[in-house]
Amino acid sequence: MSLPPGTVIAVDGPAAAGKGTLARRLAAHLGLPYLDTGLLYRAVGRRVLDRGADPRDAAIAEAEARALTEADLERPDLRGPVADMAASAVAAIPAVRAALLEFQRRFGAERGAVLDGRDIGTVVFPAAAVKFFVTASVEERARRRHLELSAQGIAADPVQVLAEIRDRDAQDANRPVAPLRPAADALLLDTTALDADAAFAAALAAVRQRFPGLGA
Ligand code: C5P
Repeated sequence: MSLPPGTVIAVDGPAAAGKGTLARRLAAHLGLPYLDTGLLYRAVGRRVLDRGADPRDAAIAEAEARALTEADLERPDLRGPVADMAASAVAAIPAVRAALLEFQRRFGAERGAVLDGRDIGTVVFPAAAVKFFVTASVEERARRRHLELSAQGIAADPVQVLAEIRDRDAQDANRPVAPLRPAADALLLDTTALDADAAFAAALAAVRQRFPGLGA
């Protein structure tokens, strides 16, 4: 048996918790399309910065969200501290979220999907078949982000990386619209002491439990 057509799997959680790695791997294993929804907010943030505007400017950010193209998602400058904070700032603007909602729903509705983000299980696909909330201690997340940056040859101060992650967590969790929080029916996956293989095995076991006829 394979998954029912249109199956959506939601993977939410804070920055650097391992959502992307897990979601990408689940999607490949289950033969589902994958969408990193953080890229949408990152690309909107970059478009606002390109205009020399403040990412908290609601009117400009909404206009840029509505003008977003596929090519924007391929930009090489969507990662790093400036893009992180610009994404988090535009993501707090309700009109930006509304503009990006349709794109995400259409993506998932076409052939099913695994989507990772902050509000997939709570807002974008509240009826997703399986929901995960992936988290880890803030210190462990900062350690991983620092390693990632080093691997890319970017020298970063570990104390600053930790402070930036704390700031972004606070901004994402405290915004009034679609704040970062687990859906009531999400399975909590704390990856503080789990490596990527163990997190994947736990998630796949949960998908199998939801769809008992699923093959290997
Ligand atoms: O997941 P990533 O770290 O790439 O997301 C960048 C920012 O985009 C987050 O800090 C958050 O503010 C925003 N975001 C969001 N909702 C999503 C995905 C990302 O608000 N579904």
